[in-house]
Amino acid sequence: MCGIVGYVGKGNATERLIKGLESLEYRGYDSSGIAVHTGANLVVEKKAGRLAKLREALAERPLRGRCGIGHTRWATHGAATDDNAHPFTSEYSKFAVVHNGIITNYEAIARFLRARGVRLRSETDSEVIAHLIDLYYTGDTLSAICRAVKDLEGSFALGILSVYEENVLYGVRKDSPLIVGKGEKESFLCSDISGISEFCEEVAFLEDDTVVRVTAERTEAYDLMKKKRPLSFRKNSRAERGRETPFFGSHMLSEIREVPRSIEETLAAYPEEAVGRILRGDFDVIALLGCGSAYHAGLVFKTAMREIAGVPVRDCIASEFLTERQTEGERTLFIAVSQSGETADTLQAVRRAKKRGSKVLAICNAPSSSLSRLADETVMTHCGVERAVAATKSYSAQAAVLLRICLQYADIYGKITKEESRLYLEELSRLAEKTEEVIRAEKALEEIAKSLASADALFCLGRGADHCAAKEASLKIKEVSYLFSEAYPSGELKHGTLALMTKGVFALFFSTDPRLAEKNAASVEEVRCRGAQAVVLAAESAAKAIRAERTILLPDTIPAFSPVVSSVAAQLIAYYVAVIRGCDVDRPRNLAKSVTVE
Ligand code: GLU
Repeated sequence: MCGIVGYVGKGNATERLIKGLESLEYRGYDSSGIAVHTGANLVVEKKAGRLAKLREALAERPLRGRCGIGHTRWATHGAATDDNAHPFTSEYSKFAVVHNGIITNYEAIARFLRARGVRLRSETDSEVIAHLIDLYYTGDTLSAICRAVKDLEGSFALGILSVYEENVLYGVRKDSPLIVGKGEKESFLCSDISGISEFCEEVAFLEDDTVVRVTAERTEAYDLMKKKRPLSFRKNSRAERGRETPFFGSHMLSEIREVPRSIEETLAAYPEEAVGRILRGDFDVIALLGCGSAYHAGLVFKTAMREIAGVPVRDCIASEFLTERQTEGERTLFIAVSQSGETADTLQAVRRAKKRGSKVLAICNAPSSSLSRLADETVMTHCGVERAVAATKSYSAQAAVLLRICLQYADIYGKITKEESRLYLEELSRLAEKTEEVIRAEKALEEIAKSLASADALFCLGRGADHCAAKEASLKIKEVSYLFSEAYPSGELKHGTLALMTKGVFALFFSTDPRLAEKNAASVEEVRCRGAQAVVLAAESAAKAIRAERTILLPDTIPAFSPVVSSVAAQLIAYYVAVIRGCDVDRPRNLAKSVTVE
């Protein structure tokens, strides 16, 4: 995670860096810091906590210069303290470094450095980089960086300043994203385009194992042997920047209200021909890859493929997939889902899959992300920028477009008739409107949140597609409100978990499939008669016989499609539970938007 930014040019480096960090804060907010070349020295200001703390410090001790680097941190090694905040400098501040990623062999490097008298001042894996460059410096910064980088294992994007070169920035990329941007007589480095977009006419996405030397006017790229590499800049288009969402006081709330539009625009832009080419390819197995909410969107696909096409799909949590012996090869089609397209586990899993000859179809919200560059084909979700750390509109759009892929697959392979295909597509096109309907029930959902907010614990329950929705609901609620929450298949309750259904515990049931309504009604009873309270989100046709403390009626749809509709209700509940519990909804603790570390 972490966001890194670099600036060199005619402007005030501090201002530009802080502006960049504001856009990157979603990537981590444990600490932030900048280092600026003042003409004589490299000077660092860094603070634990939110960016506001750094701003305060800079107001007291302004830092002026034309070249600098900045960092916003999501800690992986070492607590969120001032000392562990980036940038790190080498002894006598000859080099300053910001790092995104994890250096897996940092302990060995630290031992190597200590044996040479270097004193390390932080608990991070990142500090060693600055010292290593210093140790290898014999008059040429680029050579020292290349040599140091060869010693590093793990994943990293680096921004580096050298006291010996006043108006030069260095950047390095290996498995963590890094972009160079060109403005008017100024250049930037950044983890993603949002941090520099407004200043840049052109951008270039670095390949792995690339070092760049950046001045205000030009950028040179090298491999680790110091051999020049081509670097192609392209126009920084509006589409690349993504549309902005109307703001209603909280990003999460604003983004939930954008769900219908995101679904609509994503489905409207569906690249049927390109997906068709992939789906007609030579494969026997489809495997789904993702993490967090993106993985949950994948589960919607898996259920729909089973229910509509009658085809089993393997679902892989990317980090788990990486621990398994890989059995997939050329005859597997992977569908990899990631909002940012920079999720480290998903990227690693995709690299592994590609190495074994598999084809990869990506679902992604960032056109130039690492994932879309790795994949054979990308289906874009058109959600615009998602600023709240918790995924809402991106999940909904991912689920909707995955359903579209399922329908296309079923059509191509004759798993459904032409008439069925038409009816399914018609219903899919109504999903945006149905989520709109759910959003209109916001007040009622806020009322539900009031009762859930004081629960000791919450269980999100459902069967089939409803279980997929329950999983996403549970994640959303725990990540933004810190209420203990667990998702469970309703039918499994009686195999142990009923033991926990006591007073103070709430169960949030999903019931959207009329065929399962009676079973759901029985599960609700089982929970209530043991003292827990039940709240039900039910489609009109699947609400009968259910007796609960509260029931909210949702519009009916095809059961396999229902998570797209019901999860909007869950997103609103999660939002209000978090607000009522006094949480920072847009910046939940210990979470970052773009999970760029494994
Ligand atoms: N490993 C570094 C740290 O803990 C960077 C973390 C990251 O990129 O998320 O400071």
